[in-house]
This record gives sequence, structure tokens and C-alpha cells, in this order.
Amino acid sequence: MPELPEVETTRRGIEPHIVDSTVSRVVIRERRLRWPVAKDVDRKLPGKKIESVGRRAKYLLINTEAGSAILHLGMSGSLVVLDQGTPAGVHDHIDIEFDSGLMLRFRDPRRFGSLHWRASPLSHPLLRDLGPEPLGAEFDGDYLWRKSRGRKVSVKQFIMNAHIVVGVGNIYASEALFLAGINPRRAAGRIAKQRYDALAGAIREVLSKAIRAGGTTLRDFFGGDGEAGYFQQQLEAYGREDEPCRCCGTPITAIVQGQRTTYYCKQCQT
Ligand SMILES: [Zn+2]
Repeated sequence: MPELPEVETTRRGIEPHIVDSTVSRVVIRERRLRWPVAKDVDRKLPGKKIESVGRRAKYLLINTEAGSAILHLGMSGSLVVLDQGTPAGVHDHIDIEFDSGLMLRFRDPRRFGSLHWRASPLSHPLLRDLGPEPLGAEFDGDYLWRKSRGRKVSVKQFIMNAHIVVGVGNIYASEALFLAGINPRRAAGRIAKQRYDALAGAIREVLSKAIRAGGTTLRDFFGGDGEAGYFQQQLEAYGREDEPCRCCGTPITAIVQGQRTTYYCKQCQT
């Protein structure tokens, strides 16, 4: 499933190809995605110039002066920039064509993605209640410390809550807690401020590293086959059950928290 780093890499990959282009046509072959694609998308996008491509959490915002298309890649979605007229495959559900002769093609075999239109996207119900961006200025150890006071939930589940901070998926939560040396089972409300400083730094580090990895390992978004996207990186704890901790050699432990598997070192993470 595309996580925040993959979505950010996609944003950086497509933006230079479509910004300042004007939408000439929107072709929707399949409206039945996670939610039906709103008619507003094909009614309002044509004739509009793309001002920028933004991102909020895992939503891409294709911004025009009149509003924004809000696109989520779901479980299996991908975007690629192609020449118009490139034959569509069975999973190529949406093309946004531009006056440049290029088009942005959305492919989504499992159809868990979505596409909405909104005059002011950040007020959309999907976006308005989200916590801050983990790479933004609002997010730091002090913020996590303040938000966590009085909370009995585990710190792992706390940082995966999108109302607290967006984009910390299961892999990144395990990795960040390992880097910060914090036991994932510890109650969020019982962690000192200095430890949250370390955790906020670790969250930024794992996400930034993944975005850098995406930038160097992804194929160009122009002319690709639409499979581009999801890269591997070296993981310190996640997926390493019973393998030796890279710091102390203790076998990594796997536990289940909130239906998700957490990997950690009982020796290094306290
Ligand atoms: Zn260890």
C-alpha cells in the first residue's frame, strides 16, 4: 500500500510535467472506486490551469485557481504521465488530458483509490480533522508530549493515530520507536518530553529517508508503465522477528497491537 513517502515521491514525480498546463479533457472509464468519482471532477477540471500539485497526508491535491482534485491512491493505485492516445489497460480508470499533449493516468487494480473535487480542499471532511504533517513545522516533541498527557493508549498506537499526526504507518512507527529507543507498549501519557523530542526526530528521519530512497530508486514518472512507485529500504526492526538486533544482538520481538504487528528490541527499547 502506498505510504506517505510514496505519495510524496509521486507528487514530486508528476508535478513538473503538469504544472502550468491546462486540462483539455477528463476521461473516466470507471467511477466505482472506493467512493464514486464525483461528476464535479469531469465538469469542473476542463479548462482549468494546474497551479501546483500538493499533498496532505496521503491525499494528492491537484490545485487549480477554481478548486482542487483530491486523489487517494488507495491500496494499489499509481499515477503516470503519458502521451495522449496511449492505449488504456483494464485497470486504467481515469485520464486527465492537458493542452500539452500529455495526460495523467490513474491506474488502480483494486479500486480502493478515490477522486473528489472541492473548491477549498483542506475543508473536505476527509482532510479537515487530520493531525499535522510529520515533516511540517507544527510537529515536534513538544507537540507529541502535550497531546499525549493523560493518554493510556500505547505510544505505538498513539503515533499511528491520524488525528495526532498523519502518515506514520505501521512500518514507520516500528522503525521510529526503535531509533528512539522507546518500548512500543509504553503508555503514551507516561513518556517524558525529552523522549518525545527523540521520537519526533526519529519519525522525521525514517520518513525523510524513505522519500530520499524513492527519489533515487524510482523510474521517471514520464513514460513509465504505471508500476513505478513502491520501494524497499533497509529496515532496522520491522519484519525482523527472531533476527538479532543490529545494536545489541538480542532477537527482535514481534507483538500485535491494535491488529498490527509491532517489531522491537526488548533490550534497547525501554
Ligand atoms: Zn537491541
